[in-house]
Amino acid sequence: MPETHTTDVLIAGQGAAAFAAALYTARYQIHGMVVGDRFGGETAIGGGIENYPGYPDIDGFDLMLKFREQVDKYDVPVIDAAVTAVENAGNHFMATLSDGSAVHAGAVIFAIGRERRKLNLANEEAWTGRGVSYCSTCDAPLYRGKTAAVIGGGSAAVEGAILLGKYADQVYLIYRGGGFTRPEPVMVDLLNKSKNVHVLFETEVAELLGDDTAGLTGIRLNRPYEGKDEMTLDGIFIEIGADPRVAIPQSLGVKLNPETNEIHVDRNMNTNVPGIFGAGDITDGSGTLKQTITAAAQGVVSALAAYQFISEQGRACCVHEAGYDLRASAAD
Ligand SMILES: Cc1cc2nc3c(=O)[nH]c(=O)nc-3n(C[C@H](O)[C@H](O)[C@H](O)COP(=O)(O)OP(=O)(O)OC[C@H]3O[C@@H](n4cnc5c(N)ncnc54)[C@H](O)[C@@H]3O)c2cc1C
Repeated sequence: MPETHTTDVLIAGQGAAAFAAALYTARYQIHGMVVGDRFGGETAIGGGIENYPGYPDIDGFDLMLKFREQVDKYDVPVIDAAVTAVENAGNHFMATLSDGSAVHAGAVIFAIGRERRKLNLANEEAWTGRGVSYCSTCDAPLYRGKTAAVIGGGSAAVEGAILLGKYADQVYLIYRGGGFTRPEPVMVDLLNKSKNVHVLFETEVAELLGDDTAGLTGIRLNRPYEGKDEMTLDGIFIEIGADPRVAIPQSLGVKLNPETNEIHVDRNMNTNVPGIFGAGDITDGSGTLKQTITAAAQGVVSALAAYQFISEQGRACCVHEAGYDLRASAAD
């Protein structure tokens, strides 16, 4: 028999926004429940973090462990699963999880981030993990002494190429644009100082080369580089951005920002649907600045908005009056 949980606020996600929201729901003494399919989100796999205030240099995974430890002090339940659907049941929301369980919640905070974009070339999926990667900061150390390319022209691509240059012999940064406009200038300076990183502007990957035994062995470009349109490579890193995971919020009638396709939130992280809130990289709340600190800040603000909604609507099902032993009251 699948389990059924009841909570005041379902917090979907397990990244910076979700854990920050969980901390503040606990502080406001409403019952929060975190449901996410990958601990730590993008912060945990993004490598070293040097711009999170208070931590001059910390590994992203370790930073997320600290988030989690702080939330654990309040015994907020954390379920390792994906939210697969949410329905508006009138006086509450009903979520279905990938582990088969269901959650009844007075309010929902969507903090489920973004899905990395693909080139959509033949064999891209089949060779993922065999020469095709979407996270240079995760896999760069595997390319010691090898030759690899990073595709893209944003911050992740530039930072990935710099990092990869520390391990690989030769790195090609392939960008369809004519110059860098989005990465921090300090990162572009660092890139220009990397002797083994070669930048190819106005160039695209036309085809992935390889076979099912070896995986990826190279790429074909849409225009020649140094007289050749084929490049032999040990791997490529596709860093061309990410799309907000809006399908479930949209199914509830949540409006998106028409320019960015992100959940549109006001300054209190309210969406247009009462009881549904957004936080972190899935929202348009911090413009183009998508960072761990901005995600965490939005998580905190969304928790206050959810608390106010729960209180005003009389939806509190699980307000805990004696201390913080919330886990005991989580299961219905
Ligand atoms: C390579 C890279 C390097 C970066 N470097 C830095 C840096 O140095 N400094 C910095 O401040 N920021 C950095 N960032 C940005 C930072 O990682 C993000 O801004 C931050 O992770 C956003 O947090 P979030 O909680 O909104 O989303 P995420 O971290 O993306 O978390 C989303 C969570 O939702 C979960 N999820 C997804 N779908 C579902 C579902 N259906 N149900 C339940 N859970 C779901 C995911 O598993 C994940 O746990 C970097 C990002 C990348 C990609």
